[in-house]
Amino acid sequence: MLHQDPPAEARHHHTTTTDRGSFCTARCTCGWSGPARRSRERARTDAELHGSTP
Ligand SMILES: [Zn+2]
Repeated sequence: MLHQDPPAEARHHHTTTTDRGSFCTARCTCGWSGPARRSRERARTDAELHGSTP
């Protein structure tokens, strides 16, 4: 069969970063949101850490 549905167990975390004033916060589609960071790079690191944690 060519059509394949993704398994329900494969929980994918789709993270984005949101700028708020001079702060940047990482957010995820699962509802998680990281702490406000002064730099976008830090927020992205938070997002990466969250995405690699079950
Ligand atoms: Zn997540």
